[in-house]
Amino acid sequence: MRNLYLTIIGFFIALLILAVVNAQGMLLLTKPSLLLPLPIQHIFIGSSLLLSLICFTWASAMHSCSMAILALFFALKSLSILVAGGMSFFGLFTDSIYLLNTEGLLLANLSNMLFFCFTIKLFPLKKSGENNYQLLLALTIIMAIMVPLSYIFNDRATWLLTQIPISISLLALLYVTSTITENRGRLPKIYSLILLVQLSFNVINYLLYYWHFSTQMMNGLDMLAFWFMAIMMSYLMGRKYYYHIRDEKSAQQQVLARAKISYTTQKKLLTLHDESQEQLENRVQERTLELNIALQELELVNQTLKEKNTLDELSGLYNRRYYDEKIMAEFRRSRRNLTPLSLILIDIDYFKKVNDSYGHLTGDKCIVEVASMINVLLRRSTDVACRYGGEEFCLVLPETDKKGALALAEEICQSVRKQHIFNHENVIHLTVSCGVTTYQQEQGMTPEIMFDRADKALYKAKQAGRDQVQVIPIEIMNLST
Ligand code: GH3
Ligand code: MG
Ligand code: MG
Repeated sequence: MRNLYLTIIGFFIALLILAVVNAQGMLLLTKPSLLLPLPIQHIFIGSSLLLSLICFTWASAMHSCSMAILALFFALKSLSILVAGGMSFFGLFTDSIYLLNTEGLLLANLSNMLFFCFTIKLFPLKKSGENNYQLLLALTIIMAIMVPLSYIFNDRATWLLTQIPISISLLALLYVTSTITENRGRLPKIYSLILLVQLSFNVINYLLYYWHFSTQMMNGLDMLAFWFMAIMMSYLMGRKYYYHIRDEKSAQQQVLARAKISYTTQKKLLTLHDESQEQLENRVQERTLELNIALQELELVNQTLKEKNTLDELSGLYNRRYYDEKIMAEFRRSRRNLTPLSLILIDIDYFKKVNDSYGHLTGDKCIVEVASMINVLLRRSTDVACRYGGEEFCLVLPETDKKGALALAEEICQSVRKQHIFNHENVIHLTVSCGVTTYQQEQGMTPEIMFDRADKALYKAKQAGRDQVQVIPIEIMNLST
């Protein structure tokens, strides 16, 4: 956009220079005899002005610097053609003298400068063609130097002098265009064609000049060449715009295609990620399940182990190890809660005889039978029955006083007494003796002393004839022993 403004400003400065030069009276008067018929002049002025205006509008709309330079070029070129045809600014500045030659040279140099600038911007040579860019830059500078020189030749400048730089410029541009090899569609070819036609028009004009044809005819040919160039340049810019749009579109499509590829890749990656995540989750679930099963199995094994540790294999009652733990725990609880705790020791009477008479297996069976009888009679869930030794059982009865314990022991005695144990053809009658003791927070009492008391009571029952319950009274029990 900055370039565009600069170009417009340059255009008006050039016009101002012309006006000042004209006002100084250094230029020659118009030769009316050189002028083409007025309607042609008017049509040319109007149409070239309109062309420049359209180009400027397009340049500002497209933000195209090359288009702005082209518009300025069109304006100056058409002006130079008119001046070459005899027009001057005499009408505006009446005290100025004949204008033709200086104005022609000045405008030709200025328009050549713009032609070079336009070519640099069109291809754009600054970025790609280092040599071409330098050549055109040098020529632009030469043309710029020639602008003030136009005044030196003010009265000697002939038509030939104005045409020579134009031809040189066209040749230079033709050379530059022919060396552009990069792929820019058909732009260099179209441009070369325009330059060639312009050069042909120039050659024809030289011939007309050489053969002294009328100036009007040469001027008419200039106008024709201008309009050919204007049309071709418009086509060229149209093509450039088309290539620009096409390139942008293909670039967009490429970006879109790349975006699509990256999207698909990302999607694939995501799916892969999801799949692996799912697989991982499944494996974790499987492992957790396996672990849970292993834990359950371990728990079961532990349970079995615990049971094996605490249960007596033959009778199914608790074993002696369990009794040792239980009596200690219950004793402490009883002492803490001030509740009674009773202990019953049970021993099968004359059991040796059973073994001797029926064998050890039958003896075992009898132990099992007595154990189940005892188990049935235990009503409270807190009561614990243990097989203490061979055919000896021990009952731990929390929160049970002496009366309750005696009642239960009597019940057990009765139950065993009444029960017949069948072994093949034999019926075995058993009796048991029970020793009972109850702890009621007596000072100095321990679980061991408690057991000793019960044992003594059992011994008493055995001594008293068996099949009975005995209890050792507290007063005769010496706690220290
Ligand atoms: P009492 O108790 O009436 O004084 O006479 P007893 O014959 O029962 O004498 P004691 O209690 O001292 O004898 C226990 C006998 O029990 C000794 C042993 O032969 C037998 N016995 C111990 N444990 C087992 C066992 O697990 N199975 C069998 N079949 N017999 C056992
Ligand atoms: Mg015994
Ligand atoms: Mg016995």
